[in-house]
Amino acid sequence: MISLEEEGKNEGLESIIYICARCGRELKPHDFELLHSIKCIYCGSKIIYKVRKPSVKKIKAI
Ligand SMILES: [Zn+2]
Repeated sequence: MISLEEEGKNEGLESIIYICARCGRELKPHDFELLHSIKCIYCGSKIIYKVRKPSVKKIKAI
């Protein structure tokens, strides 16, 4: 019998990052907090993609 862990149980481990549409650099939510606005800290572009980085799941093989 196999019991699967519920998806989304470890939501806290999932990190969200932002990618600038113009220069393609990686931005973190912390960077926007410093600026008090959503824009790229490198080139000033206001077009930012939100990217979800799913946490890596480790599966035990018996
Ligand atoms: Zn940029």
